[in-house]
Amino acid sequence: MSRGAPGPRSRRLGRRAAKVLVGGVDSPVRSFRSVGGAPVFFARGRGAYLEDVDGRRYLDLVSSWGANLLGNAPAAVVAAVRRAAPQGLSFGAPSPLEHELAERIRRAAPELERLRFVSSGTEAVMSAVRVARGFTGRTKVVKFAGGYHGHSDGLLARAGSGVATQSLPDSAGVPRAIVAETLVGRYNDPTGLARLFERHGSSIAAVVIEPVAGNMGVVPPRPDFLRTLGTLARRYGALTIADEVITGFRLRRGTVHESLGLRADLVTLGKVVGGGMPIGVYGGRREVMETVAPLGPVYQAGTLSGHPLAMAAGLAVLDRLTPTLYRGLARTGAELEATLLRLADEERVRPFTVQRVGSMFGLFFAAGPIEDERGAERTDRARYARFFHAALAAGVYLPPPPLETTCVSAAMRSRELAFAERALRPAFRAVRGGPR
Ligand code: PMP
Repeated sequence: MSRGAPGPRSRRLGRRAAKVLVGGVDSPVRSFRSVGGAPVFFARGRGAYLEDVDGRRYLDLVSSWGANLLGNAPAAVVAAVRRAAPQGLSFGAPSPLEHELAERIRRAAPELERLRFVSSGTEAVMSAVRVARGFTGRTKVVKFAGGYHGHSDGLLARAGSGVATQSLPDSAGVPRAIVAETLVGRYNDPTGLARLFERHGSSIAAVVIEPVAGNMGVVPPRPDFLRTLGTLARRYGALTIADEVITGFRLRRGTVHESLGLRADLVTLGKVVGGGMPIGVYGGRREVMETVAPLGPVYQAGTLSGHPLAMAAGLAVLDRLTPTLYRGLARTGAELEATLLRLADEERVRPFTVQRVGSMFGLFFAAGPIEDERGAERTDRARYARFFHAALAAGVYLPPPPLETTCVSAAMRSRELAFAERALRPAFRAVRGGPR
């Protein structure tokens, strides 16, 4: 099935939006800048599918950048939001769903001894960094090239997919003095990290890391990397921040950093725990978190924090996160991975690499393994753009930026896997052979 995308309604809306919204979008990764063309406008989503304003259906492999673990508009989550809405849309005061969700999160991730809700992943990491600075009295923060931790000033250095594909290595408007406090290491490079600590150890407040990197495709940590990171941080008195905005509650019920060898002082969450509503969470060791106002001197606040609809949605999602669900997701992931590799092989597309952790996929038109940003940058962006558009035309929605995580949801079953196989064959055919 071939069709020109986007359809006429999307095109019309795109022109209208561009006259009032900057670039026609509210977040740059939604534009098709990185792959060319104009974005598709969506009217609704149900289960594993999205429907655009022209009535075309797409298998959704973006899952709202990972937030929709259960698929689009799961009935139980929609019902929970419906029940909560008439009780009040915002109190700006304590309400019971906040500590209920907090208790539920802590039961699954006990290292969040104390936590706070905010409204986005950006806020969560920005706040965690502030806490680490407040607690240690130090200023420098280490991040890794290709790691994205939201768009707060200090963390917009070598920040991965969305930024990389917009060719903004650092953002305009971020003062040099602020980025000077950010040290950028190489992912999966314990020796380089040790050197960074040797030079700057006494001024490093925190190391912030995605325990499975999801913003340079998907890059798992080498076994020694997270362990060395933890050891170095402890030795030099720096805190560790595990940014689990994507991985938290997506890869298992809880967080993954400990199972990968890192004990973090602070943890950030978002996406899945808000069930598609705006949310962010930061939390960690009680002693560290109690530096936050009103108990301590680190200020952080939010009119809509702990929003009742986000809390209600989060609770409804957490109710459904059973071991069976994660087993099913891993199985779906493994089958889709096998399909992708087989199609690439049959259509003689090479090099092509899939790096998958559970329901998170990195697709690279490059030889693997990809272990860091430099490796991820080898992916053939032009081929990805052709692949993306052919998949779109055949009814599969992939992330427009080439190095974003492709996420499957629990709504994806054998029927969807069969559809993916049919629809993705022409996409591989469109990029057949070696690089052009
Ligand atoms: N941290 C990570 C690891 C992320 O992937 C993202 C967003 N994709 C963020 C933080 C920022 O979250 P938000 O977009 O909700 O601000």
